[in-house]
Amino acid sequence: MSRLHGEVSRRIFGPLFPGWPIAEVPVGYVTNGVHVPTWDSAASDALWTKAVGKQPWMGDLRGMSERISQIPDEEIWQLRADNRAALVKYVRERYARELRLHGLAGDEAVEQSRHLGDPNVLTLGFARRFATYKRPTLLLADPERFARILTSPQRPVQMVVAGKAHPADEPGKAMVRQWLKFMERPDVRPHIVFVPDYNINVAEQLTQGVDVWINNPRRPWEASGTSGMKVLVNGGLNLSELDGWWAEAYEPGLGWAIGDGQGHGSDPEWDRHEAEQVYDLLENEIVPTFYQRNERGVPEKWTGMVRSSMAKLTPYFSTNRMVREYVETYYRPLAEVYEGRVARDQAVGAQVFGWRHNLKTFWNTVHIGDADIELRDDHYLIKVSVLLGEVPPEDVRVEVYAEPEDATKAAFCKTMERHGELIGAANCFIFAATAPNHRPLRDYSVRVIPSNPNAAVPLEARQILWKNCG
Ligand SMILES: *Cc1c(COP(=O)(O)O)cnc(C)c1O
Repeated sequence: MSRLHGEVSRRIFGPLFPGWPIAEVPVGYVTNGVHVPTWDSAASDALWTKAVGKQPWMGDLRGMSERISQIPDEEIWQLRADNRAALVKYVRERYARELRLHGLAGDEAVEQSRHLGDPNVLTLGFARRFATYKRPTLLLADPERFARILTSPQRPVQMVVAGKAHPADEPGKAMVRQWLKFMERPDVRPHIVFVPDYNINVAEQLTQGVDVWINNPRRPWEASGTSGMKVLVNGGLNLSELDGWWAEAYEPGLGWAIGDGQGHGSDPEWDRHEAEQVYDLLENEIVPTFYQRNERGVPEKWTGMVRSSMAKLTPYFSTNRMVREYVETYYRPLAEVYEGRVARDQAVGAQVFGWRHNLKTFWNTVHIGDADIELRDDHYLIKVSVLLGEVPPEDVRVEVYAEPEDATKAAFCKTMERHGELIGAANCFIFAATAPNHRPLRDYSVRVIPSNPNAAVPLEARQILWKNCG
């Protein structure tokens, strides 16, 4: 899904691994990508093909950024004009069809629909499931201010909204109604189109045509926000919460970010603050940049951003990279583990099974004794006796552990060495390790965890036993 959602998922799955630090909960991540040839418009496909060659999405995409970076402003601006015009055409045709369904004569329906949308106006898009955490009505927090942005005579803005709510989701349905109500305002009406029945075909048209794709969920609940990746190949720019994929994709100069990279629950004050961030960005950056044209009518700063977004983000947030990561990080290593386990009449598989079974049966016979700590020149020497009961010493590992000192650092974790067996106590050993003494002793704990070179811990054996040193 995304790096951030990997973190969120470790928290969600944490209770399945009681006693384990969140960072060790065995949930990784692969950031989503989109199948680019599905989402590019005909015009986009032509431009990419011209820049990087036929079948641009086959094979290795590295090296592609370089060539995209050389597309001139004029060609990028022409692409945007073509894509935007196609969206306006689509919206008009759809509207005319709707009017005909309501009984209007064919030519009259076409005539009326001709007033919808303008191929030269900055076009925003917002299309989602109307789920509360996606805050589909954030833009309506200050309707007057938003209406002023849309209806500026010199630098107008238009918007396409699509979405649907689950039939049982009352707040979701209320948010759809809130948009429809806002659109009834006579001043706003010419500037917003609501496309009903959001589905993959509608998404395709919208993500090809819009100049700016808006996503404003409550961090950290957007697992990915994949629709934002669909605009990349088409030269659309993202304005998004620093959540999901955008938290790892965003850099200044290739789109816009809202939020502060932190979660704020569902605090209405914070929602309001983020709505203001969106308005500020629209008023002070997005609208002026779009309408700032050179002598040839090209908004160079805008096309520069589009080029950076296309070049840097499109190859990476593609299924090309995503599938490679799945294969290299998960599928292939797991296939190898499987082959190893079933080989030689499943010798390794049987060993792992026995190890797991024994741990499960006899874990309660394992006990950590009191730690004996010596303060040496620049470190502690920590010694501890561990009674292993019915568990063979090679089936476990004894470690000294300390939580990270701050969020930027990794935890301290060091394997303790097994010394002699205690005399007169069966299967009881002294374990020893040193640890830096700049931290108080109470920061350190001894822990016993399962160990097996052929198995994944804690995925396959989640036992853990702790004893604090302080
Ligand atoms: C791409 C897509 C989505 C997922 O997009 P989000 O960014 O997660 O909202 C949902 N619905 C449709 C129809 C799509 O095409």
